[in-house]
Amino acid sequence: MAPRKQGGKPRDLPTLRARLDGLRLHGEVQARARSLLLVWLDAAIAQGVPFDEVLRALKSGAAARTIAAAELQRIGANPPDALLRAACAPGCAFCCLLPGDDGGTILGAEARALHPALVALRGQPDGSAWHPDACPVLDPQSRMCRAYDARPMLCRAYFSTDAGACEANAMGQPVAGAAVLGSQGLMLSVQSVARAALAGVATLPSYALARFARATLDGADLTEALRASRHAPRMLEDERKRLTGG
Ligand code: SF4
Ligand code: SF4
Repeated sequence: MAPRKQGGKPRDLPTLRARLDGLRLHGEVQARARSLLLVWLDAAIAQGVPFDEVLRALKSGAAARTIAAAELQRIGANPPDALLRAACAPGCAFCCLLPGDDGGTILGAEARALHPALVALRGQPDGSAWHPDACPVLDPQSRMCRAYDARPMLCRAYFSTDAGACEANAMGQPVAGAAVLGSQGLMLSVQSVARAALAGVATLPSYALARFARATLDGADLTEALRASRHAPRMLEDERKRLTGG
């Protein structure tokens, strides 16, 4: 993904819009991500939002999060057959087993929303009291998410028609059944498109959910927890490609 020749780096809203519009993209999801981001940007321009504020919303992923939340709502209003057959239920938490220290890709705006909810949980038993790979946010007894309202898009988008398949997957045996709704791939696509449009102007990092949660529960403030969980730049692209197929 690269900008066509559009003059200098975007330092105001019209040049940012032109850069976004001129990106060379691959695939339908990226094209849709750009269209939705242009709609978001045009609304910001119409409302007179200053460039710095737009830049902050793009850098943090707040814009991508808003667009993805609307997409999730749209999917929920007309759910696909598989979602109607979902086996998900309270206390069924194999999808909250996060092997390794990464635990899935989240954006800065999602981490910021999670942080206060996690601070309130410090000192309590965490998911590892149930299973060594469990997300630290999980309640080890009820196996419910302890930050449900602030959980990231990844957790909102994950579902399965077969809890047994989730258990097998958690044990390292790949079995079909689990899926991720398109809102997560769209969110990462919007962020990667915004990242390309802002190349040379701003960095748009992504973060590791499990590392962010662990650092926060261990006492890190927001800045420290973000630093401890920041991804290498390619992680966002790798995850986007994995979820959207290219
Ligand atoms: S995704 Fe799988 S493990 Fe998670 S709640 Fe649904 S059925 Fe249970
Ligand atoms: S944040 Fe909540 S829903 Fe997401 S993996 Fe952790 S415990 Fe599960």
